[in-house]
Amino acid sequence: MLTARGLHKSFGSNEVLRGIDLTLHRGEVVVLIGPSGSGKTTVLRSLNGLETPDAGVISVEGGPEIDFATRPAQKERFALRDRSAMVFQHHNLFPHFTVLENVIEGPWRVQGRPKDEVVAEALALLDRVGLSDKADARPHQLSGGQQQRVGIVRALALKPDLLLFDEPTSALDPELVGDVLVVIKELADEGWTMAVVTHELSFAREAADHVLFMDGGVVVEQGTPEQVFTAPQHERTQRFLTRIL
Ligand code: ADP
Repeated sequence: MLTARGLHKSFGSNEVLRGIDLTLHRGEVVVLIGPSGSGKTTVLRSLNGLETPDAGVISVEGGPEIDFATRPAQKERFALRDRSAMVFQHHNLFPHFTVLENVIEGPWRVQGRPKDEVVAEALALLDRVGLSDKADARPHQLSGGQQQRVGIVRALALKPDLLLFDEPTSALDPELVGDVLVVIKELADEGWTMAVVTHELSFAREAADHVLFMDGGVVVEQGTPEQVFTAPQHERTQRFLTRIL
């Protein structure tokens, strides 16, 4: 579904990605874990075309291979953006729009799909995450967990090939985390292809097909959840897991 090879990115003298390779097969859930500042968000943003790596190649099934060393045109990066949808740590909903307006904005105004169709789909998606009665509410009238579920619905409404989650629960009160993780797990079980950055290791253990442990801009270790969590090979992975568990 997606292949990234040799991603490099620096912000000034801070080399944040130092040669990241990542493959996502269709229907697969890849979870990225690692200490804060290790480059996980920058990887997701690169896959989504929000960040431009200095070097490396990204290709999405059916699309062109984008070689960042050749400074690709904006059009190519936007092609990447169209294939995936990102759910952010903070939901980033438009505060002055209703929930429904937030969800339809992308598919209706950006993708130019018929409004009736988009509204019907949006209402069905809201229903599915238990928010059908909130369609006309404004984001501030919802709890953090409800806002984040709207964020997920907004991503789904774009009908992307790939869902990217950037610490989707880390800004939530602990009691609201579960509801959001349940939705993400259901999407994983339904066969969505997704990459998830999270510190929720029990979720990672349950939902991931493949886990990457990043530190200092490199993938230190990767494998099945069983391999990475139960029998980590690298001292850095062991240290991280001991700290976080
Ligand atoms: P993680 O998601 O693992 O916490 P990030 O990818 O967010 O790591 O950040 C990695 C490093 O890159 C951090 O040191 C961060 O400060 C830096 N960084 C990220 N985005 C920017 C930016 N737009 N400008 C400057 N530095 C950035």
